[in-house]
Amino acid sequence: MIRTSVITGASRGIGKAIAMEFARRNDNLAIISRHYEEAERALKEIQEIYPRLIFAYECDVSNKEQVIETFGKIKYTMGNIDVLVNNAGVNSRKTMKSGLDERIAGFEEEVRTNLLGSYLCSCVAADYMDNGSIINISSIKGKEVTTSPGYGASKAGVIKLTKDLAKALAPKIRVNCIIPGFIDTGMTSELPEDKKQAYMKLIPAGRFGTVDEVAALAGFLASKEASYITGADIHVDGGYYMD
Ligand code: NDP
Repeated sequence: MIRTSVITGASRGIGKAIAMEFARRNDNLAIISRHYEEAERALKEIQEIYPRLIFAYECDVSNKEQVIETFGKIKYTMGNIDVLVNNAGVNSRKTMKSGLDERIAGFEEEVRTNLLGSYLCSCVAADYMDNGSIINISSIKGKEVTTSPGYGASKAGVIKLTKDLAKALAPKIRVNCIIPGFIDTGMTSELPEDKKQAYMKLIPAGRFGTVDEVAALAGFLASKEASYITGADIHVDGGYYMD
């Protein structure tokens, strides 16, 4: 059966790698980001390798009206949704040293995009799913203590949201969470080199992870081989944080 998979934040980084992996597994795709041209560029890159049915959508996952409209269009053009990956995320890197207005704006953006966005997309997509699978992308910063409270709290919320939705949507829809550690993407390329080197020393694997290593787990969690896995959170972090 050919599945329809929706991936938010799929114009680059981890989301694009997950879209590529799902296309490799023969899925049709809906790719979402806030910028149509960037989503379309990713679509073309994927289609050059895997000629699947792929649509790009411009949508801010923190905006209820845009989410309702976009998922309505996906249902209309592609039919029922089989898989949703809530990957879209922002890290404002605001700490307690930032000015109060900046701090609050960063906190709001992180909670709205990372947590509310995952909830909104899950609620709307669930109405269009029969036996589906939802995969949320959290972060190791949602488990360890961080100096960026907005990012940390929003990602901790994503882990809890996963478990509550796994219970609420069972047995129809499985909901799982991937917890990446440090992964080589645009998000981590902003880190100063000395900070990167310091983090590297704390990772047993001795390196940052690749987007493909995260995508491989998403591919498995969405597959029928993972049919008895729900409410789980699984780290892809080279051993950086062990519960
Ligand atoms: P990138 O910054 O490289 O990509 C983020 C993606 O999300 C882009 O496609 C961006 O597109 C999209 N996006 C951002 N905000 C919104 C929004 N409001 N609505 C729709 N799309 C949005 O990030 P990564 O690939 O590094 O990270 C992907 C996910 O993995 C995030 O949730 C992140 O928190 C998480 N993560 C990343 C880690 C890392 O080391 N890189 C570690 C742990 C977790 P556009 O700007 O066009 O909207």
